[in-house]
Amino acid sequence: MSTLLELRDIRAYYGEVECLHGIDLEVADGEVVVVLGANGAGKTTLLRSVCRLVRTEGTVLFEGEPFGGSTYDVVRRGVSMVPQGRGTLAELSVDDNLRAGGYIRRDKEIKADIAYWYEVFPRLAQRRATSAGSLSGGEQQMLAIARALMSRPRLLLLDEPSLGLAPIVVRRLFDVLGRVCAERGVAMVVVEQNAALALDMAQRGYVLEAGTVAVTGPAHRLRDDESVRRAYLGY
Ligand code: ATP
Repeated sequence: MSTLLELRDIRAYYGEVECLHGIDLEVADGEVVVVLGANGAGKTTLLRSVCRLVRTEGTVLFEGEPFGGSTYDVVRRGVSMVPQGRGTLAELSVDDNLRAGGYIRRDKEIKADIAYWYEVFPRLAQRRATSAGSLSGGEQQMLAIARALMSRPRLLLLDEPSLGLAPIVVRRLFDVLGRVCAERGVAMVVVEQNAALALDMAQRGYVLEAGTVAVTGPAHRLRDDESVRRAYLGY
């Protein structure tokens, strides 16, 4: 598999404070990578550094080429992010949220894609005219993900998709995510507190500690790593 995203020696700053201290990370085409770490370890900042939403030094390559100057260029090249706490437009209907997600596309298949998402998430189809802000937490998260995928990205960045959701909803969400990414050949970097589920879905993982990579390797090896088990899997 070829490398889709490559981060080399990434340092990120809020003001003068350095929060990531030289991160190396790779994502192959179609690969699912999980990022684990305690609160404040720098997981969100890592995703933001890919999208140019934080001041960053170091090298970010996408398909071997650096991004242009803006977040728009990152999106145009095929990266989509679902931020923590639901990436929906609360005032707009479900239907309009999906349409807005496809705004960057010029092709004629937007309608077909919206139909695809209603098939994947029948609950959203039932609520297509409802404003996103009045959906349940689980429905909003599903909409946020469908909306992010409406731009047909090559890489999806997901920040804590399970936050605040009931366990049964989380399991269904992860099932669908795994299936859709495989079906559509979308690679994924997922920051997740629910380490057990995320490691089940991922091929590889990274554990961040205080802005550096503490452990990295195939998901099955992380699952067996004693420090990972104790800190994130609770046994
Ligand atoms: P959490 O799980 O709590 O979201 P995280 O691993 O995603 O944590 P980050 O949100 O990336 O961690 O934060 C990394 C460090 O950067 C922390 O020390 C945090 O306090 C700091 N930080 C995050 N956002 C800002 C900001 N907007 N301004 C200043 N410092 C920030």
